[in-house]
Amino acid sequence: MNKGIAIYPGSFDPVTYGHLDLVQRGLKVFDRLVIAAVANPSKDPLFTLEERVEMLKEVTVHLKAVTVESFGGLLVDYMRRYPGAVVLRGLRAVSDFEYEFQMSLTNRELDDGLETIFMLPSLEYTYLRASLVKEVAHLGGDVSRFVPPQICRRLIERCRERRRA
Ligand code: ADP
Repeated sequence: MNKGIAIYPGSFDPVTYGHLDLVQRGLKVFDRLVIAAVANPSKDPLFTLEERVEMLKEVTVHLKAVTVESFGGLLVDYMRRYPGAVVLRGLRAVSDFEYEFQMSLTNRELDDGLETIFMLPSLEYTYLRASLVKEVAHLGGDVSRFVPPQICRRLIERCRERRRA
């Protein structure tokens, strides 16, 4: 049975175990997953687009059904490259709901054919968000429980550079 393609968009600044949990879950439901890093996230990113894409590729290299891309502009325009694909998003807590609800209805307003599927992460990752991981790293805390080792190293390095700057 063909289970189709899902596009998983986000800032991934940087990728966390929460994102990876969602990728694993997505692969149970879809044949192919395209992780799409947003070129200009509203938040001022700690890592450049190229770095975020590179890190995503590194941590998903063993997953043959996953590809990593990036896009700028509207998600609905990018989605036209993948006719029939759905958008995958994560819902961590009620706090995510309102934003995700508004965004998916707005996207549907822009393109009536666009469907969004929400998945819940493991309970242990429901509190995990990249912005908090960055804050902990910035303050010198241990983030090894939140991100894969190679991301952890890059975070420490980038925070050190920022402190020196
Ligand atoms: P954040 O900066 O808040 O971590 P992103 O823009 O990188 O968010 O998130 C991309 C998508 O991944 C969003 O749908 C977000 O809800 C989801 N996501 C992020 N962290 C988690 C997590 N810990 N568990 C489940 N989904 C998550």
